[in-house]
Amino acid sequence: MSENVRVRFAPSPTGHLHIGGARTAIYNWAFARRHGGTFILRIEDTDPERSTEENTQAILRAMEWLGMDYDEGPIVGGQYGPYFQTQRTASYSEALEELKRAGATYPCFCTPAELEVKRNAARSKGGFAGYDRTCRALSPSEAKARIAAGEPHVWRLKVPEDRGEIVFSDAVRGDVTFPADTVDDLVLVRTDGSATYNFAVTVDDATMAITHVIRGDDHLSNTPKQILIYEALGKSLPTFAHLSMILGSDGKRLSKRHGATSVEAYRDLGYIPEAVLNYLALLGWSLDGETTVFSRETLAENFALDRVSRNAAIFDEEKLEWLNGVYIRELPASGLVDRIVPWLEAEGLTDAADVAARRAWFEELAPLVSERIKRMDEVAGVVRFLFDDAISIAEDAREKVLMKEGAARSLEAAADVLSRLDVFDAASVEESLRTLPGSLELKPKVVFQAVRVAVTGSTVSPPLFESIALLGKERTLTRLHDALTSATH
Ligand code: GLU
Repeated sequence: MSENVRVRFAPSPTGHLHIGGARTAIYNWAFARRHGGTFILRIEDTDPERSTEENTQAILRAMEWLGMDYDEGPIVGGQYGPYFQTQRTASYSEALEELKRAGATYPCFCTPAELEVKRNAARSKGGFAGYDRTCRALSPSEAKARIAAGEPHVWRLKVPEDRGEIVFSDAVRGDVTFPADTVDDLVLVRTDGSATYNFAVTVDDATMAITHVIRGDDHLSNTPKQILIYEALGKSLPTFAHLSMILGSDGKRLSKRHGATSVEAYRDLGYIPEAVLNYLALLGWSLDGETTVFSRETLAENFALDRVSRNAAIFDEEKLEWLNGVYIRELPASGLVDRIVPWLEAEGLTDAADVAARRAWFEELAPLVSERIKRMDEVAGVVRFLFDDAISIAEDAREKVLMKEGAARSLEAAADVLSRLDVFDAASVEESLRTLPGSLELKPKVVFQAVRVAVTGSTVSPPLFESIALLGKERTLTRLHDALTSATH
């Protein structure tokens, strides 16, 4: 691409960053990175009732969590700032003045009630329901006099009479045509002097020198309006790319009904950012049609709009969970410890001092856990027995395992062989326990399940010998003895 690519993600802080918005952000980010361009974050906070500072902060946090670093935007600044629309009103007024000078806008004094009557009349005739251009016919002197008299008015775009249909080539959808009769003299500036949504977005995109507008296709119907504004401003059009919707597994638009919809909700459910990024990137784009697991770097090196699908994507939480498990298993032990610890801290199982004091122990623990979980919120449940001595043996495990013929003999013998060990690591624990089924003439399953239940409280646990080694000799022996009271010989 010869030009200097500049793209933006422009969320409205009317809610948290949701899955669809995050995918838009990711595609913009990846497109900028791929072309050595600039990725801009612009907060579209012009709706005073629904925009909140809390939401803005949540969006910034979610962007950071996903690793969507931006080159210009809130906090980092940039030469095209400010990056909040509420701070850009001067540029909207300036653009309006420019349009006035060019004769591309006119004041409209029609009241909302009058407009309503006109609209209804037009609709009942089945005709064009846009503005009937009454005020476009006013002479400049009359318009001036009415403004001077303080009559409320909006400013409308004076769309050229012969503008005709609007056609543009969308980088995802191909040629898109809007017929001439959908072209309206839209309002640019309201009676209170504020810019309308389409005017603000277009002025911002033009003044920020945006080259590619990559956004959700819920904005497709705004595009012809924005194109008319670009034309009136005498600015060249960016390339538009409209991303298709994300649907829930039932084929309906993704919404709260389908479960969590915000990025931070997925973080809180124990998803890790690499997996979420990878999964969202796959919702409408593919590397080569087969590869499902790829890194941020691979995405940034390979993202291309011509591989973005026109079809709606289906959000499948099970697939995300599977991918999350893949990523967890691939994390190196040290990195995994850093991810796991906050989840254990939240459950009161450890703290920073504990981790610092026995980092090596945690690094041995981490790979055992990663084999057993798909989400970080499962960690505490899986390893609680290593931290909390008040283990309670699940009732069904007690009945099915400890009440089984041979269970008590197994526990006694295990306590006996383990008590003799000087080196208490996984290999020596395994070596000594492996002798038991033979010497006791019991099935290995009977022996090892009895030991597992006694030591971990459950029939499912991380690998047994490693778990015992991590628990240590003294605590293991105490648990074997405690469990003997409920076991059957
Ligand atoms: N602020 C708009 C939204 O959050 C996006 C506008 C755009 O990308 O053009 O839906």
